[in-house]
Amino acid sequence: MTRPALPVFISGWGRTPRIRALGYEIELPEEISPLIRQKPQGGDFIVHAMGRSYGDSSLSQNVILTRRLNAILNFDPDTGIVVCESGVILSDLIDVFLPRGWFLSVTPGTKFVSVGGAISGDVHGKNHHKAGCFSASVIRMDVLVPNGQIITCSAQTNRELFLATCGGMGLTGVILSAALQLQPVQSAFIDQEIIKCKNLQETIDAFHQYHHSTYSVAWIDCLSQGKDLGRSLLMVGEHAQSGCLRLPEVCRQSVPFDVPGICLNRYSVSLFNALYYARMRQRHLSNTVSLDTFFYPLDAILEWNRMYGKSGFTQYQLVLPLESSHAGLKTILTRIARSGLGSFLAVLKLFGPANENYLSFPLNGFTLALDFKMVSRLLPLLDELDGIVLDHGGRIYLSKDVRMKPKIFQKSYPGLEKFRQIRRRYGAAETFNSLQSRRLEI
Ligand SMILES: Cc1cc2nc3c(=O)[nH]c(=O)nc-3n(C[C@H](O)[C@H](O)[C@H](O)COP(=O)(O)OP(=O)(O)OC[C@H]3O[C@@H](n4cnc5c(N)ncnc54)[C@H](O)[C@@H]3O)c2cc1C
Repeated sequence: MTRPALPVFISGWGRTPRIRALGYEIELPEEISPLIRQKPQGGDFIVHAMGRSYGDSSLSQNVILTRRLNAILNFDPDTGIVVCESGVILSDLIDVFLPRGWFLSVTPGTKFVSVGGAISGDVHGKNHHKAGCFSASVIRMDVLVPNGQIITCSAQTNRELFLATCGGMGLTGVILSAALQLQPVQSAFIDQEIIKCKNLQETIDAFHQYHHSTYSVAWIDCLSQGKDLGRSLLMVGEHAQSGCLRLPEVCRQSVPFDVPGICLNRYSVSLFNALYYARMRQRHLSNTVSLDTFFYPLDAILEWNRMYGKSGFTQYQLVLPLESSHAGLKTILTRIARSGLGSFLAVLKLFGPANENYLSFPLNGFTLALDFKMVSRLLPLLDELDGIVLDHGGRIYLSKDVRMKPKIFQKSYPGLEKFRQIRRRYGAAETFNSLQSRRLEI
């Protein structure tokens, strides 16, 4: 029996676009196959899990809601391999397994994402240079393809489906469950060092100098210009060797209303950035912080996406190859600083080598992610930045994208043709489409 559809109003984390769709809340994997065979409302389906992708990748006329597909199926305490359904949230895995001495091998900057979302975006963490993307921790997974078949795939078995599904933005089928490798840890804390860098060159040098560190990420002042362009605070970290395995209680605050758009402007953000940068007086600081503080600072504020006001926001994340990173970042940061449109949230990270997944984002080089409030001046600026990114051999991250043009996407993702072949092989192009895949003509 198929579940009745619920009309839902949904958006990604950037809160734009917000659409009306038919939602199908799935509790059992068997419910999916009869549902997609019915082809209601023109037939496009996509999974909408935790909605933490920023743009339109989890939006479609029909959305498969996987939050109740959330069982932990098996755990081997000798190997640290957990098998779970795809709607399980990373925070649940942490709650259950951290007290037993296991943590995620790769984690994005929020723990409120599902396992299916983490695989489909092939998300990266602060340890990409050491551990690769989330897919590196996927031992195997079960994917339901449009003809109803459930295919187990891994880096060895049904490899092409695996390479297409990791980073494939839900466009090959529905990930039902996955076996994940967790990493052993001694403590729920991170020994952190913060290094203050005066400009872009110092920031890049510091990333190379701390390349041996397990985790690294820099907050960058995207409105600083001239000799201060690219000034930053680089944070590096190692798992602490002692301390308890329980996370300290976090008292979460929430943003209770949509903050009026006018509050976030060039002057308020510049002032905030200058104070944040100046707050750290010394060049170097060491301390110990909880995993929550180090990995998920934004999770402490629920619904922080309301800070950008009713019209929403977008995150623009680009990566540039190592050899063109300095020149490209300089041009991009100069352009953003001049526009005055940047916000407080601007993050730089050094990626390790790319993997073989057809649509995964990382390349060996620097990645910059910035939040922008949605205003009419923004779209022409981002189109211009796309051109600079492309000229420097880089690309834009699909998990954050809501406005890229198909030509930019097609030129910067060389695995696209292979991806399309796999979609055709499994008949996925007739069933699994999102607003993003339609826009990008995937
Ligand atoms: C505060 C914040 C910090 C973030 N930090 C990072 C970061 O550091 N690194 C990073 O890489 N990303 C980061 N992200 C992005 C986020 O990790 C990804 O967008 C992730 O894919 C969201 O997962 P979700 O469960 O919310 O999926 P959704 O947003 O609901 O869906 C995302 C995509 O996954 C597909 N999908 C989800 N579940 C399934 C399934 N079971 N089967 C098939 N397809 C599925 C959807 O169709 C869609 O295409 C961040 C996001 C936020 C809000």
